[in-house]
Amino acid sequence: MGFDRFIMVDWSGGNDRGPRPKRDAIWIGEAGRAPVYCRNRAVAEAHLTARISDALDAGERLMVGFDFPFGYPLGVAQALCDGDTLALWDWLESRIEDSSKANNRFDLAGEINRRFPGQGPFWGNGLKRDIDGLPRTKAGYENPFADKRLSETRTKGTFSVWQLAGAGSVGSQALMGLPVLARLRRQFPVAAWPLEPWDDAAVVFTEIWPGLIEPAVARHAGIRDAVQVRVLAEGLNRLSPARLNAMLSVDAPDAQEEGWILGLGHEKELLAAMSLTPPPLKNDCFALPPGVDWTPVDEALAMLQSRLTCVCATETVALGHAAGRVLADDVTARRSNPPEPNTAVDGYGFAGALVGEGDIVLPLVDGRAAAGVPYAGTVPPGQACRVLTGAALPDGVDTVVLDEDCATSGGEVAFRGPVKTGSNTRRAGEDVQEGQTALSAGRRLTPADLALAAAVGLSDLPVRARLRVGVLSTGDEVVPAGSTAAQGQIYDANRPMLLSIAERLGHVAVDLGHVGDDRDALRARLDVATQQVDVVLTSGGASAGDEDHVSGLLRETGALAEWRIALKPGRPLALGMWQGMPIFGLPGNPVAAFVCTLVFARPAMGLMSGAGWQEPQGFNVPAAFSKRKKPGRREYLRARIRDGHAEVFKSEGSGRISGLSWAEGLVELPDGAQDITPGTVVRYIPFGSFGL
Ligand code: AMP
Ligand code: MG
Repeated sequence: MGFDRFIMVDWSGGNDRGPRPKRDAIWIGEAGRAPVYCRNRAVAEAHLTARISDALDAGERLMVGFDFPFGYPLGVAQALCDGDTLALWDWLESRIEDSSKANNRFDLAGEINRRFPGQGPFWGNGLKRDIDGLPRTKAGYENPFADKRLSETRTKGTFSVWQLAGAGSVGSQALMGLPVLARLRRQFPVAAWPLEPWDDAAVVFTEIWPGLIEPAVARHAGIRDAVQVRVLAEGLNRLSPARLNAMLSVDAPDAQEEGWILGLGHEKELLAAMSLTPPPLKNDCFALPPGVDWTPVDEALAMLQSRLTCVCATETVALGHAAGRVLADDVTARRSNPPEPNTAVDGYGFAGALVGEGDIVLPLVDGRAAAGVPYAGTVPPGQACRVLTGAALPDGVDTVVLDEDCATSGGEVAFRGPVKTGSNTRRAGEDVQEGQTALSAGRRLTPADLALAAAVGLSDLPVRARLRVGVLSTGDEVVPAGSTAAQGQIYDANRPMLLSIAERLGHVAVDLGHVGDDRDALRARLDVATQQVDVVLTSGGASAGDEDHVSGLLRETGALAEWRIALKPGRPLALGMWQGMPIFGLPGNPVAAFVCTLVFARPAMGLMSGAGWQEPQGFNVPAAFSKRKKPGRREYLRARIRDGHAEVFKSEGSGRISGLSWAEGLVELPDGAQDITPGTVVRYIPFGSFGL
């Protein structure tokens, strides 16, 4: 059973910290909510009580994490209260006195120490006055128990639960926290993990330790206590139930008595969820089943779809910067649209149920309701109120007649009945209701999406970092546009084209320049690229010839999967992984490079960017051309629509760049044979459907 809500608490053992948010106070974080500052423990306990009862009322299961030890080293509970750890919680609860200005934790620690011979187990008196039995420092320390619990000995940088004073010490937090947990546990159906069975509990308390997630916390600005609880709550919320369950199943024998730290031994997965960065792609993600010859387009696409995953981290941006970004999570409406019932027209409002047929005359109340300026009073039954478009319906009004259907004079309004109750009004939430999913993860945010987000009360949206797409041209004959081309040289047509496609698709296009037919240069350039981009599109040198250095290098380093895809135009596509970075080795011919990019690289990059796999929307239209198509491979023709018919470019030559420029879309012909004559229905995919 998973959790619906995660509440993480950074506790404090000290006194009231004042009204202004400060570090080292109590901070409470929840996924999707701003961290809450609690100036003292009483405020925190009240807040937790309210949040837990709200969650339980809503039928939610929740985890509440606290950053102090739930237990003491083996044998302590028995020695102190002749019971188990949860009995010790109650024992402490009956002894700790807490107010915002003072508490008796040092006195209680002294009292406990006096029960045992020698100096200890507690040490660190933070008060000015001396306390019998409680040493100020560790000098002469003797501890009848272990200094640390098993979980703490397995974690770097933890403090002993016996240390009561000094930065980072948790001893005081536990003494001042466990009594609060004991009370909450009596009030709610709580299980304290892993001290008692927790599988079926509606509320599970877990022990957390922010040190485990330090690398994730360090990246964020702001008060660190606040950052910690928010980052941890959001990370846990993102973990799959299976992962979380694995973290919760602890088989260390002492854990049931001493408690355990959530995520211990699972730091990597925890950090992966926390850093908002998805795991990298696997190195074998382009591997092909052996013996495959010409792979049909659909099979190749299905393979890409099943193997690629999103590689872009999540960040939060303001609405004004969200256009074109990929939404990382579903977002729910904070407010209904419209937020309250209002009038759709200028007119007169009244209670509809009281109005019959025929000529109706109603007295008008003084005042009116305008958009943003509501009518303050209640409109009595049988009376009407002037209302203007967008105004909230006054109390007592559920129906509006249009200005044009009314006559007014001397404080009365006249119109003809019957009028349907609810006429000319908009119900609250008739568009979107609070709590509904307003926008779904994976959307590339459109202008309309931003309007919707704003209307339902959202000002920031979780989005994916943009996918960085590197574009690299290869070949000794290729020189950049603008340079002087010697005989035998051609201008680099692919690079500006591919950079522009990447940008139009919503990615960050990174110009990786050009390298000649030189394996070492290519290797060096790809090495640098791994630091700059998430994926590379190369063009040229992708076939199997001597001078095909993209495929040559990838083959040499064992990183190549040569995809012989049954498609025209397009020679073998060299797909490879370079240190975890996918490379799409596109053909050099600009037309083939263009088509392969739209057909293969585009959906693949969509997946990697978090937008999911998107099929281009095509249309069936009659052909304006004739063609006898041979079986065995799919064909894409440069095409456009004129007079409702698809016409194709006069030449199919894959070096004819003018035809690409002429075209407004592609005609896609199926793998099998087809005899096309004017009027035959063909599938036309406008460039717009590819996102260009
Ligand atoms: P290749 O795939 O390297 O065999 O190249 C196929 C054809 O595409 C050759 O005629 C190349 O000269 C041409 N070509 C390769 N790269 C480019 C480029 N960046 N711009 C224009 N044509 C290119
Ligand atoms: Mg070449």
